[in-house]
Amino acid sequence: MSNSPPDQNRCHAARMARKKTVIDAAIAAATDERGLLLVVTGNGKGKSTAAFGTVARALGHGMKTGVVQFIKSRTDTGEEAFLGRYAEWHVTGDGFTWDTQSREQDIAAAERGWAIAARMLADSAYQLVVLDELTYLLNYGYLDRDAVLDALAHRPPMQHVIVTGRAAPQDLTDFADTVSEIADVKHAFRAGVKAQPGIDL
Ligand code: ATP
Ligand code: MG
Repeated sequence: MSNSPPDQNRCHAARMARKKTVIDAAIAAATDERGLLLVVTGNGKGKSTAAFGTVARALGHGMKTGVVQFIKSRTDTGEEAFLGRYAEWHVTGDGFTWDTQSREQDIAAAERGWAIAARMLADSAYQLVVLDELTYLLNYGYLDRDAVLDALAHRPPMQHVIVTGRAAPQDLTDFADTVSEIADVKHAFRAGVKAQPGIDL
């Protein structure tokens, strides 16, 4: 038994060759092209910023992009200041539910935002639509879940959609093509650090 550097190098090369065969076959088998529904959920930080990173990627390809931010009401974020120059950007929330403390007000804001989202989901000119924090509206019952799923199901075939928010409901993740769950390992807020421009807003 030997694990001298030349042996290690040969082993590595053989392992990578096997890996390449498997990966190349998987790439060759993936031939579909269609609009995708992505869901980014979980308790960790990085859901909305993952969606905004994808917005930057799509804009780099010249794709028409729409963003609807539910729940949040602030319009001084870095993402809106920068990406809002190139994407159609709507901040439709009235603030967090624990701030508004009014179900009627939350529902009215949800419906205003959904009207904009539904318009985008019916228009094939939009190649990417981001529905930021939509999961909360589904979980609180502020929007009709069947109507939302129906609009997603009947959207233009090449349109990509990203939904973010904690606790994505199962009927949404079942319907989605790609689902990522971000785990909360630690967050600076719990160590007393306030929201930092460029990182948190
Ligand atoms: P981001 O917008 O930074 O990608 P997010 O979309 O994953 O975060 P949200 O639940 O939408 O998370 O919350 C947005 C704000 O709350 C951000 O300022 C973020 O840093 C903060 N935040 C996110 N996750 C946590 C957490 N686990 N604990 C404390 N604060 C958090
Ligand atoms: Mg978010």
